[in-house]
Amino acid sequence: MNSISNRVDRILELFPARRWYTALTPFERLVSTILSQNTSREATIKGFENLRRRFKIVPKVLAEATVEDIRECIKPSGLYNSKAPRIKELARIILNEYEGNLDSLTRLPPHIARESLLKIPGVGFKTADVFLSTVCGTDTFPVDTHLTRMAKRWNMVKANATYEHIRVAFEAAIPGEKRQNAHLSLIEFGREICRARQPKCATCPIYGECEWERKGDFKAGA
Ligand code: SF4
Repeated sequence: MNSISNRVDRILELFPARRWYTALTPFERLVSTILSQNTSREATIKGFENLRRRFKIVPKVLAEATVEDIRECIKPSGLYNSKAPRIKELARIILNEYEGNLDSLTRLPPHIARESLLKIPGVGFKTADVFLSTVCGTDTFPVDTHLTRMAKRWNMVKANATYEHIRVAFEAAIPGEKRQNAHLSLIEFGREICRARQPKCATCPIYGECEWERKGDFKAGA
């Protein structure tokens, strides 16, 4: 077992995966992933619940809603000026190109489903991979800002690594059956301990294994 795999196992024990979205439809999953960009889980949930109180979250309804109304609902999730038109456009495309139903996409081979998702404006690598992992049940490992930071601190990739470099590095280190939980646990670890600013290196459970050359700077005061 490699060193990254060992530390991921430890983090899986200490930061169990938390899911709030178990009952979402595929379209709701896409909308929630757009809302989650650059914000916390709590802010994502608030914006999503506001939207759900106001609208039925189906492509036809959101394609017909005004950007202003969507924006008003999703304000708690932040970046609402860009997220609102993206959600409306997403709804319009899924209504027009998928007849409002993403089931056909979930039946495609994963790499073709990924290509199709990436063609939808507003759907980037992370959103496509979250969809593949949580809706299609593939072992894709989505990468977010926390995972990017950890991959670099742990010397898994170079400083200028792309999304795909980081995804491949994590997939090489974590067995397929653990990836979905590991994704969530590592995000939790990144929020709580391996934070962007003032990481809690002093109390970090994997301090001894971590490769980050600056970890000593944060050993005293966390
Ligand atoms: S020692 Fe610091 S940088 Fe390394 S994993 Fe822990 S919190 Fe992150």
